[in-house]
Amino acid sequence: MTDFKRPQLELPDGADRLLLHSCCAPCSGEVMEAIQASGIEYTIFFYNPNIHPQKEYLIRKEENIRFAEKHGVPFVDADYDTDNWFARAKGMEWEPERGVRCTMCFDMRFERTALYAHEHGFRAISSSLGISRWKNMQQINDCGHRAAEPYPDLVYWDYNWRKQGGSSRMIEISKRERFYQQEYCGCVYSLRDSNLHRKSQGRDIIRIGKFYYGDEAE
Ligand code: SF4
Repeated sequence: MTDFKRPQLELPDGADRLLLHSCCAPCSGEVMEAIQASGIEYTIFFYNPNIHPQKEYLIRKEENIRFAEKHGVPFVDADYDTDNWFARAKGMEWEPERGVRCTMCFDMRFERTALYAHEHGFRAISSSLGISRWKNMQQINDCGHRAAEPYPDLVYWDYNWRKQGGSSRMIEISKRERFYQQEYCGCVYSLRDSNLHRKSQGRDIIRIGKFYYGDEAE
């Protein structure tokens, strides 16, 4: 990573302030460092009522706060309104990952991000969600654009964070910072499905709070 020269990034449409939705420290580490390197003013917005159980939610959030403080970046700790998330997920309990439940989940998180941005004078929103190779980037970008669309003063920045080795640097930074290593996407249904898959392979089920990047057992 040391010999990688970061490109100078610019917000779209001449926007000057970015509200970056963050899903977790591992995904936002590389995104944050890329943004910092370009001198873009930004704030982290942590709104992830999908994460279950609360123990997992708090670990992921605390990791993100730790990294934001290290970089001196403002951190907005938004609601953990799980009732709303479960209400919107009703009937989608058995949908596969990357399906309609995930579209709902991205929509919900982006909608709140866009509303907060609009109310607090941010001109652009983006998210760390798209850096993960497990996710469908087009699905995420569609949700981001949809959320920003009602606000004429707001633009969704669909920068491809995976570009030029971004996904590899995400892992490097996670190891360097010894971030908590989550083992499922986040919601109770992804936890259930990951454990069902593990059981079918004779593997142990997920133990929350167990692994950190750089651990021997990783
Ligand atoms: S699998 Fe992940 S993106 Fe999909 S609904 Fe669950 S937490 Fe949200």
